[in-house]
Amino acid sequence: MHNINNLLRQIPKVDELLFHTTLALLASGTVLTQGIREVLDDLRRDIKEGRVDTLPCCDALAEKVAVRLREFNRPNLQRMINGTGIILHTNLGRAPLATEALNAIEDVARDYSNLEYCIKNGERSSRHVHIEKLITHLTGAEAAMVVNNNAAAVLLALSAVEQKDIIVSRGELVEIGGSFRVPDVLAQSGCRLVEVGTTNKTHTYDYERAIEPDLTGALLRVHTSNFIMSGFVAKPGLSELAYIAANHSIPLIEDLGSGCLVNLARYGIHGQPVVADSIKAGVDIVTFSGDKLLGGPQAGIVAGRAKWIAKMKAHPLARAMRIDKLCLAALEATLRLYHEPETAVEKIPTLRMLCESPGMLLEKAQMLKEQLATSGGHKIIVVAGASLAGGGAMPEEGLATATVAINAGISARALELHFRMGAVPIIGRISRDMFMLDVRTIDVEDFRHIASRLQEV
Ligand SMILES: *Cc1c(COP(=O)(O)O)cnc(C)c1O
Repeated sequence: MHNINNLLRQIPKVDELLFHTTLALLASGTVLTQGIREVLDDLRRDIKEGRVDTLPCCDALAEKVAVRLREFNRPNLQRMINGTGIILHTNLGRAPLATEALNAIEDVARDYSNLEYCIKNGERSSRHVHIEKLITHLTGAEAAMVVNNNAAAVLLALSAVEQKDIIVSRGELVEIGGSFRVPDVLAQSGCRLVEVGTTNKTHTYDYERAIEPDLTGALLRVHTSNFIMSGFVAKPGLSELAYIAANHSIPLIEDLGSGCLVNLARYGIHGQPVVADSIKAGVDIVTFSGDKLLGGPQAGIVAGRAKWIAKMKAHPLARAMRIDKLCLAALEATLRLYHEPETAVEKIPTLRMLCESPGMLLEKAQMLKEQLATSGGHKIIVVAGASLAGGGAMPEEGLATATVAINAGISARALELHFRMGAVPIIGRISRDMFMLDVRTIDVEDFRHIASRLQEV
């Protein structure tokens, strides 16, 4: 007890640490005082509870404060290096943006803009005009609008139907992840869900029999994204559904999820639904995300018949879901890159990563291996692996890739933690007690960060 009281008395005053040289460079004012107080409070508690029996010197305490201040000064939302090989990872912010999109954001963010102003007439205008023509041009739709994400786009489309029955196949009543469940969104729109067919098979006659004049508001088709059924399965083609809908003068709505704007078959990417194909098949309202395969900012894009888009633009919910100007700027710049599919694949990071050839990836992995080898003493090998598109696109199809596996003489778990906790967090995977980095999702510019972090092991 005597020793504890003695130690408590010897704890330095806040003022004694305030002018410590280590700290003066890091912070000042209340942030500094608060940091020092917290460290001294911790020390006081540790002494009282018997965890400390000799007083740390002032330098040691200052270092503790410095660690706290560095932590405090670091932004919570920060950039990371994605070595998982998952191109569209919702937890990691989905699509990284093209330089053109970043420049557009900066221009519009720094100054005033014509967000809702017509320069030609000097009058009020709509924010949709900036992207509508671009989208109709790329999809063949009559009209288009954008809201803040695809979940909002689906809700708005269903709300435009005005509280009627919506017919959906049982096989499409899925949960996409992040709590987007088709039945729940449908309920929120005030519509009633009418399930047809079975989990594995739904036929055209199932839809037809369920339609009731005046009660049925729309047919809904949902892309099941990260959920796959195979074997004894069947569903009508889009144009068959569109035909039924048109016959009964109701719209066919399609939630395409990760809608693609160009066909990537010539880059070896198959089976990804293209928005223009849905419009061509006769879908009345298509919705898809801006930050999945499209490779733009978070946004929900709606394309389709002018009559329905006009209704959605005028709906009170549209105001609550409206896209912000920075996303709009980034989206417009990204859409402009789609005028030439080659340009899109070259300049839009998601498409570039998706279409990267196995040969190029192998070369990239060799390059990373060589950079890492300069720190010496570690076992580094290049191994074949599989990347994933993510974002609900091509859930099962792995893309052949090259991975750099690192063994730094500590456990893979410890190494994973070491990379994750660096100044720029680096995320990878663990396989067979090796820490693995898939080069597909890593920018060559970032190799030096990985090398210097490995040196710090
Ligand atoms: C991803 C997805 C959504 C949700 O889109 P957000 O842009 O994340 O709101 C809705 N439907 C489908 C089919 C999806 O794949």
